[in-house]
Amino acid sequence: MNNEDFDIVVIGSGVIGHSIAFRLKQDDPQLKIAVLGDSVNSLQASRAAAGMLAPFCECDQADTFFSFCRESLDKFPKFLAELFSVSGSPVHFSLAGSLMPSSNFLETWEERKTFFVRENIPHEIWSTEKVHQKAPYLSADCGEVVWVGEGQVNNRQMHDSLMIASKKLGIHVLEANVSGFIREDSTIALAMTDAGKVVGNKFVLASGSWSSQLASVLEVSIPLKPIKGQMCRVQLDDHFMNYTLHGRLTYIAPWREGNGFVIGSTMEDRGFDPSIENEVIDRLIDKAAKILPALKTAPLIESWTGLRPAAEDLMPIMGKSTKYDNLFYSSGHYRNGILMTPNQADYMSGVIRGTLANEILEFSPNRYNL
Ligand SMILES: Cc1cc2nc3c(=O)[nH]c(=O)nc-3n(C[C@H](O)[C@H](O)[C@H](O)COP(=O)(O)OP(=O)(O)OC[C@H]3O[C@@H](n4cnc5c(N)ncnc54)[C@H](O)[C@@H]3O)c2cc1C
Repeated sequence: MNNEDFDIVVIGSGVIGHSIAFRLKQDDPQLKIAVLGDSVNSLQASRAAAGMLAPFCECDQADTFFSFCRESLDKFPKFLAELFSVSGSPVHFSLAGSLMPSSNFLETWEERKTFFVRENIPHEIWSTEKVHQKAPYLSADCGEVVWVGEGQVNNRQMHDSLMIASKKLGIHVLEANVSGFIREDSTIALAMTDAGKVVGNKFVLASGSWSSQLASVLEVSIPLKPIKGQMCRVQLDDHFMNYTLHGRLTYIAPWREGNGFVIGSTMEDRGFDPSIENEVIDRLIDKAAKILPALKTAPLIESWTGLRPAAEDLMPIMGKSTKYDNLFYSSGHYRNGILMTPNQADYMSGVIRGTLANEILEFSPNRYNL
């Protein structure tokens, strides 16, 4: 491809790969970095997500994963400001918060509220009267609602902004797939791509759902697979709802700025199946319309299929390889990769540059002997 040798070669051009490159370059501007990957594949995760930044509605126990996600939410405003200052490409971001209707959580409702109190999570309980004032278009059947202080981002704009930032920072972005590696004992010397060889000092595997395929080329077996999600986006004016809505097996994410509402999503263990089923999309809309009735007649803008990279224990895989001297992983971000992006980028920059004080054992590649 070229005669350059890179300090760091990141394999994967989704939000995870680009954000690692972005943070590394901010931390050490001298680094020569390449990001490899076919951006079309990112349509299936980084650009397929709903953009919910929801550590509180997604988690129900205060473990390491929860703390990491919570820290990441806190880092979002600064991360996006830094990103904008480099890319000049705006990203819609809101901290208006999320709503959880009690009608969807009957048996776990008291438990959820106790969790919010115990973990000091910013939240308010809204009576049906207050719901009517604050979110008048919600169905009266929602009952009592909890407002939770979390966020929403337009993940497609964030991915665009990251890709622009990479180019502006002089990161070499190569739209090519890696098909193999040349190794010398336990050191990776170069990656082979359909556009030629890429020589690097360190390699980062950030290839989402495709990470296990790539790792198998290195004779490493990552227990990770794609979990398919079908979703859609409908046209409805912004004023219908400012909040992200978390129901049971349904969510509604406002993309605002006239971009309508994203409705999600299925969880299907069906490999790399790209199919979209109209009847599934209709069911998603029906379920969401029970909470926000205006969705029932809102025109469909698009529907799509995404792939969540899920490790066997559903934890991210982040850190240094135990098998290769110069290989690092950041994958398996499953349902929360958009949320984890800022904290993950900081963490991985520390791991790769060797400045990280404490490894998070729950996330370590060591647990799978990778
Ligand atoms: C339906 C759905 C809804 C979601 N909603 C949310 C949400 O609301 N909030 C949230 O936080 N998260 C959400 N997620 C999860 C989030 O989207 C993912 O965790 C995150 O995008 C993973 O990012 P990634 O960069 O690792 O993967 P990807 O975006 O999949 O990127 C992987 C990259 O690897 C590259 N690649 C693959 N194979 C090769 C190869 N051989 N050579 C070179 N490059 C290669 C691809 O080209 C691609 O660029 C959702 C996911 C889905 C599917």
